Amino acid sequence: MINETYKAMLGGKSVIRTLSEYATARGKEIGYENVFDYSLGNPSVPCPPSFTKTVIDMYETAEPVVLHGYSPSLGLPGVRKVIADSLDRRFGMDYTLDHIFPTTGAAGALAHALRAVTEPGDEVITFAPYFPEYQPYVSGTGARLTVVPADTENFQINFDAFEQALNPGVTAVLINTPNNPSGAVYSAATLERLAGLLRDKQTEYGHDIFLISDEPYREIVFDGAEQPYPAKFYDNTLTCYSWSKSLSLPGERIGYVAVNPKATDAGLIVPMMGQISRGTGHNCPSSTMQLAVAKVIDETSDLSVYETNMNLLYDALTSIGFDVVRPGGTFYIFPRALEADANAFCMKAKDYDLILVPSDSFGVPGHFRMAYCVDTEKVKRSIPVLERFAHEVYG
Ligand code: PLP
Repeated sequence: MINETYKAMLGGKSVIRTLSEYATARGKEIGYENVFDYSLGNPSVPCPPSFTKTVIDMYETAEPVVLHGYSPSLGLPGVRKVIADSLDRRFGMDYTLDHIFPTTGAAGALAHALRAVTEPGDEVITFAPYFPEYQPYVSGTGARLTVVPADTENFQINFDAFEQALNPGVTAVLINTPNNPSGAVYSAATLERLAGLLRDKQTEYGHDIFLISDEPYREIVFDGAEQPYPAKFYDNTLTCYSWSKSLSLPGERIGYVAVNPKATDAGLIVPMMGQISRGTGHNCPSSTMQLAVAKVIDETSDLSVYETNMNLLYDALTSIGFDVVRPGGTFYIFPRALEADANAFCMKAKDYDLILVPSDSFGVPGHFRMAYCVDTEKVKRSIPVLERFAHEVYG
């Protein structure tokens, strides 16, 4: 007999992937340049040339046995030190290599962070709108995900709803800033208030509540602003990072967990993650990738196109009449749909070859997400089509 849980999950295929597959198929019919595919968060800018050069140099000059050999189960020590030093420099933290655990992207980081600080049956809270994969990420650990309704005014945290949701069964709170899908950047005031509330609740409940901070979009912030570093605000923080977006390497599967040195049992958590790996079969990212990202640690791709695209779309959407919160970062925008049923809205948009993702799987009704990691030229061509769609269908 095959596993019933995973079998049942086959029916709940990701809406985003389904739409992306549709866009690819439609592209074969009418030419992909004619499909305004805003479905998938796949970076559209190349990795920096320095990264490519680093990898080529390594392949040409490094000892193959070293380059392709097993990584130690906690990652390559020199690489972990480079990551710790960079975070310390940038955010005034006190990480050492003992607090860094290299992972296969943010997904691998979250898998380890969640398992390290929850037991099966525990409750993990996150805030809408949220990345839909959080459901399988959390349920796969045996914990339960509770979603706090959104603050649709500005997509910060709805603290009234959060306070109502908190209870002694909660052992972890999962945040994502800059946020997929809203593009919101949690402010220092939001993080301060969140930290204060979690500290109070830890005292009240008599146990730790860990903050798991998912930060793959950390460097994609607009208007010259910066994302305040969540671990700076709250000791019990596990920071999950990925180079998927900042270096445009989603296929390379490289990221890390950084354990705040002030967290409870901080010295045990990374070694425990080594044990978690044994059960999940994760077993460290590739040695080549660990070495390569360490060599370009403070670099990013040229991320400026995302801000250009955001401004074009934000201006166009507001002038068409959409109600939209201006994103502070990422490459997503999350406007209110022109009818209450976001699925119906996105189905109608498909007739105009506009591929928009309905908001329901992000935990918010009546909105849609556009992933504008596409060529600016295509964004510009899509604007009259958006206008035509809105006027013809919704008057
Ligand atoms: N978390 C968020 C909010 C994301 O948007 C993504 C990917 O899009 C991930 C995690 C997974 O990142 P990775 O591809 O690095 O595993």
